[in-house]
Amino acid sequence: MEGCIFCKIVKGEIPSDKVYEDDQILVFRDIHPQAPVHYLVIPKKHITSISEVTDADLELVGHMINTAVRMAVAAGIADKGYRLVTNSGMEGGQVVDHMHWHILGGRQLSGELG
Ligand code: 5GP
Ligand code: ZN
Repeated sequence: MEGCIFCKIVKGEIPSDKVYEDDQILVFRDIHPQAPVHYLVIPKKHITSISEVTDADLELVGHMINTAVRMAVAAGIADKGYRLVTNSGMEGGQVVDHMHWHILGGRQLSGELG
């Protein structure tokens, strides 16, 4: 979508520190990490938020969650535990309006986002 920074990351117009990529999704490091491990999982196609997900996207969302779990294992944070979270809308704390799942771990998390 025009003007969307995560669409620009998908297209390579904005650089990102990629952790994983396939034809449907991209995983990259958050530019302002809130924890020792802070990755973002995004679909390559623009979906505004989890609230906009349709039945046709359920396989894609499942793939994002499954990949997030595999990334947590690969990052070495799965044994002690981690958080997988997606913010939706203004009061949900969503700043970038392209659905993304945060993977946070590597320290004791607490509070709202840790
Ligand atoms: P939200 O608040 O929308 O759930 O989270 C947006 C996240 O995207 C924030 O954690 C922010 O640090 C991250 N972010 C915003 N712009 C960029 C960028 O250009 N590159 C990367 N790697 N992360 C970004
Ligand atoms: Zn987008």
